Amino acid sequence: MRRMVERRLHRYVLWLLLLLSILFIFSGCSSRLSRQSREASRQRVLLISLDGFRWDYLDRIDTPNFDRFLQHGIRAEAFIPSFPSKTFPNHFTEVTGLYPGHHGVVANNMYDPVFKARFSLRNRAEVTNGRWYDGVPIWITLEKRGLISAPFFWPGSEAEIQGTRPTYYVQFQHDMPHQERIARVLHWMDLPEKERPWFFTLYFSDVDDAGHVYGPESPQLAQAVQKIDHTLGILLDSLEVRHWQDWLNIIITSDHGMAATSKERVIILDDYINPELLNAVDYSPVLAMWPDSADLETVYRRLKGAHPHLQVYRKAEIPERFHYRKHRRVPPLIGLADEGWSIATRAYYQRNPSRFDGGDHGYDNQLRSMWGILLARGPAFRSDVHPGPVENIHLYNLLCAILRVPPEPNDGNMSLARQVLKPAFVKNLPAVE
Ligand SMILES: [Zn+2]
Repeated sequence: MRRMVERRLHRYVLWLLLLLSILFIFSGCSSRLSRQSREASRQRVLLISLDGFRWDYLDRIDTPNFDRFLQHGIRAEAFIPSFPSKTFPNHFTEVTGLYPGHHGVVANNMYDPVFKARFSLRNRAEVTNGRWYDGVPIWITLEKRGLISAPFFWPGSEAEIQGTRPTYYVQFQHDMPHQERIARVLHWMDLPEKERPWFFTLYFSDVDDAGHVYGPESPQLAQAVQKIDHTLGILLDSLEVRHWQDWLNIIITSDHGMAATSKERVIILDDYINPELLNAVDYSPVLAMWPDSADLETVYRRLKGAHPHLQVYRKAEIPERFHYRKHRRVPPLIGLADEGWSIATRAYYQRNPSRFDGGDHGYDNQLRSMWGILLARGPAFRSDVHPGPVENIHLYNLLCAILRVPPEPNDGNMSLARQVLKPAFVKNLPAVE
């Protein structure tokens, strides 16, 4: 009798345990499900920059691998750079959401009156010095939350910013073969989950290089675009065996476009003033002048209206739409050449006349020749939208939405994210902190 009671009790307890565990599993599932439907989970991003890739190259040049990418991808009509339409300023805008006049990388060549120092792309000590980068790039936003990042050759990625560095980064080498760049990123993608980055970048400069030397309409430019297309094919092949479309979002951008220049369209400064008075730190198409304060008005009056294709502004007169008045590194006086025009001293022009027969950028960012590309594809993206021209200040917020991190204060907004991401990613977007 006692044994029978014990056995019944035992069975009763077993049933109860079973029931409880079913309830437990079910409630766990349903709360996870409801959480998923409320907001999407974090996904990985590969951001690719194709320096100087103008918005219309894809229409003019045969690019089968871009076509393959775009079969289920998004292509904005154009990606509008911020002013000045130069490489370092715009790469840093893309990853911070700040205008160059706000993040402090105001040019490829610049002067800081507080540091009393000059920055140029060849000056490795300054390029890797965090003091020039005022904004907080996405990889720092991620690292501060314990999320691993791997910016590869991205301007600013070699510097310590706010006491933080990306977990993985590589010292810039202009001539590193494309295959090797891809191999390095694939290696990071194949790391065990705990070491695998959430954010990767790749950078290729061939199209910009060809555009400068031969011009945007040249056969050499078309060849450079086709070389990039071939590289994209290799990358997509390597990612397809890794089933990237389940776990990776690829965004392909460019920092600016390219306008044809000519040695017949050069503004020679010596025709109007002794160039030494300008104390220029950058020449073309934005002439950055730091004259002695005693000379400032003389320089301004001599250059203003001197040449029909040269605009001259005091810092406070720089057009509002450039967002380029506040930062201490914006010079007190700038000149800006019209599209396709160059600025030089006579000595420089006479030494390098062929440099003025090719292409350049840095001009007014409203010019369509300065516009780049924005393409995207992956599990976070819709494939049925066709955005118009997009300003590059909005890319940072899109990255934050996919990576589910709150954006730092910036000049962009979530409009691009709302347009191109699947609805789950647009719900409960992380707010600016
Ligand atoms: Zn360039």
